[in-house]
Amino acid sequence: MGTPQILPNLRYQQNLDLGFGSEVVSRPGGEDLYRCIQCGTCSSTCPVSVYMQHTPRKIIAMTRAGFREDVLSSNTMWLCASCYSCTVECPKQIKITDIMYSLKRLAIREPRNARLPAPVLADEFMKSVAATGRSNETWTITWTWLRVRPLELLKQAWLGLRLWLKGRISIARHRMTGDRRSIRRLLKAAGTLAQDRGRG
Ligand code: SF4
Ligand code: SF4
Repeated sequence: MGTPQILPNLRYQQNLDLGFGSEVVSRPGGEDLYRCIQCGTCSSTCPVSVYMQHTPRKIIAMTRAGFREDVLSSNTMWLCASCYSCTVECPKQIKITDIMYSLKRLAIREPRNARLPAPVLADEFMKSVAATGRSNETWTITWTWLRVRPLELLKQAWLGLRLWLKGRISIARHRMTGDRRSIRRLLKAAGTLAQDRGRG
């Protein structure tokens, strides 16, 4: 029997990234990070905070303190429903939803998240939109499972086949007819493409 983990979240200062807060502040959406007074209004307002690994107030505190790995591997920003309740109620008018977006963009780029489903799904979605101008759900899900859990894709194949036979999903890659390059330029400018390697 293994030794019980008494202090699961113990971190030493040498393991922190003390420049993480400044990195978030320097990116679009993260500018207000250091104006937070840690009142907790956002966490009490947030309808999904009970399901988050770290509440909105805590994720801000951890970001400022340099808990880079814990923040970028958490489910907090991926559960954010972009309802803006926190932003409306914040006494400092901090756009917490934008901070969540900023953290999402960083999480997608993080090499250690290469097999975490939510960042990979977001990355594949962005690549599909960049390449075709549209969301191609079948291929987005297929590439996500291939990158995250290839064996799971085999388990899902029968379900996918039945959905396809009933006309519920399509394997065609639909493309928008307009100027796709402008969408790609827009996504690159917004910094949402993890890598410049769309799949045609
Ligand atoms: S409501 Fe605003 S000031 Fe209060 S903890 Fe949340 S972000 Fe910080
Ligand atoms: S925008 Fe996100 S973090 Fe803010 S209250 Fe809504 S779900 Fe919670």
